[in-house]
Amino acid sequence: MQERQPGRGRLAGILGMLAITASAVLGVRSLPTHAASEYATVTDARLTDATKDDGWLMYRRTWDSQGYSPIDQITAANVSGLKPVFTYDTGLKQGHEAPPIVNGRFMYVTTPLDHLIALDAVTGKVLWKYVHVIPPVALKTICCDVVNRGVALYGDNVYMETLDNHVIAFDAQTGKIVWNKALKPPGVGYAMTAAPLAIEGGKIITGIAGGEYGGRGFIAALDAKTGDLLWKFQTVPAPDQPGGNTWKPGMYKTGGGSTWLTGTYDAETKTLFWGVGNPGPWLADLRPGSNLYTDSVVALDPENGKLKWYYQYTPHDTWDYDSTSEQILADIPYNGSTVKALIHADRNGNVYALDRATGKFLWAKPFVKATSVVGFKDGQAVTDPKARPHLGTSIFTCPSFLGGTNWYPPSYNPDTHMLYLPSNEWCMTMKGVGTDYKAGLPYLGESFKVVPQPGTDGFGVFQAIDMSNGKRVWSYDTKFPCNGPALATAGGVVFTGTLDQKFLAFNDKTGKILWSYKTSSGIVGVPITYKVDGKQYVAVFAGYGGATPLWAPATKTDDIPTGGRLYVFALPGSN
Ligand code: CA
Repeated sequence: MQERQPGRGRLAGILGMLAITASAVLGVRSLPTHAASEYATVTDARLTDATKDDGWLMYRRTWDSQGYSPIDQITAANVSGLKPVFTYDTGLKQGHEAPPIVNGRFMYVTTPLDHLIALDAVTGKVLWKYVHVIPPVALKTICCDVVNRGVALYGDNVYMETLDNHVIAFDAQTGKIVWNKALKPPGVGYAMTAAPLAIEGGKIITGIAGGEYGGRGFIAALDAKTGDLLWKFQTVPAPDQPGGNTWKPGMYKTGGGSTWLTGTYDAETKTLFWGVGNPGPWLADLRPGSNLYTDSVVALDPENGKLKWYYQYTPHDTWDYDSTSEQILADIPYNGSTVKALIHADRNGNVYALDRATGKFLWAKPFVKATSVVGFKDGQAVTDPKARPHLGTSIFTCPSFLGGTNWYPPSYNPDTHMLYLPSNEWCMTMKGVGTDYKAGLPYLGESFKVVPQPGTDGFGVFQAIDMSNGKRVWSYDTKFPCNGPALATAGGVVFTGTLDQKFLAFNDKTGKILWSYKTSSGIVGVPITYKVDGKQYVAVFAGYGGATPLWAPATKTDDIPTGGRLYVFALPGSN
């Protein structure tokens, strides 16, 4: 149970304490601690200690992006008994990717098209709902479905990004708008789809999408109280900035480098880590140079947004291998000792371990067939020139531009050092066709076709990787592409969802399926777990959509039913 802060909900808090006293007198062992009307302020201390919280306070639960919960009431031995406690239908047909964010009994979910709903995390009762009005011009320049990946919590507010590039703060209890800031105009190729990241000192950190439109990416810090811009880091440097000489004159303005997923924060070293997307245009021949800081992780000082270090996963990318997915902080065994690492599974098909203090390369290994980035020399990725398309010529390479993995987050168990990674074995033909920049239109210069990896009969592989040596320990082949984010828990269970409507629980050591539940649609939602009044719940959205059905027609997913439904499960009778 979290210590409640004074201020908001004080009266409700007092009533809650009276209820606890009454229950204690009656000898009730597990106490009803959180009435739905009392909201526990999200303080720096709670965020710093989020691993111990009963809730799920941010996108990947903790600042290190491990997406792991130490809550262990649901175990490999009893998970087969999970039953739905409640469901909630959103009435929307597009991709539902967001994790529910839970603080006490308050649950916040976002849906496609930027709806935000506050629910009671025990009963499913709707507390309030906000529907963002998106100008039609914004919807014309969004590359990959109209998704929203969830909220951030700080103080007594909830923060959401929108497809027309607003960041909005809401009162967590009432849904009243506290502030609303636009970071870019709609219609010129930018969009915001990630969950913001709230860090200590009251900073709301956001990225932006737009790499397919030549949008110049940035990472921005806003004041949690006012929405005022504190700093902005441009991921593609101007000529007079460090790294600016890695671009042909003028091209930085349309150089891509979007930042469309949530980053990671290290409170120990006060460092923010953020993954950066592809350079624009896609066809590398049109933009000579190494094109920093595209396809990189950047380590920033959260006080001022200044660059501490960077590491580029794919130099001079021509395959749309965004490096936006999780930059996970983990202490892993390495050369006989433990190293404070940053681990990252990249779209280029390699999983990396870096020294997170310096960005120094430790090791990298392919987790699927990788024929574009084929090796490493002096800590730098080596690309195969034969895998590079040129104007008028085609190549065949793996993974496809959709990546060996993509936005769907893996989960890392810090006790066993296992990474649970949704991945895909798909390849592509890619041809250089040329392009000119025009605001609001795709800026690619390449055509492409995604196909299964030759010799495989499917696409998707949910796999467990031992991060002490980079080896695959077990894997599960999915019928359709593997788009299901992962949740590992201390109960020895790993959860994920599949496009063929299964919510699955695996034994985390062996990969044995312990439980399977048929959902109303395919699952691309991030599963989470939380505890209220001593009882553990597991929650996930079903609601197929996202980039796969748009860009991978060969995957034959047309028959998967769509429609968003939130599922919350628990063990019957416990507590
Ligand atoms: Ca991209």
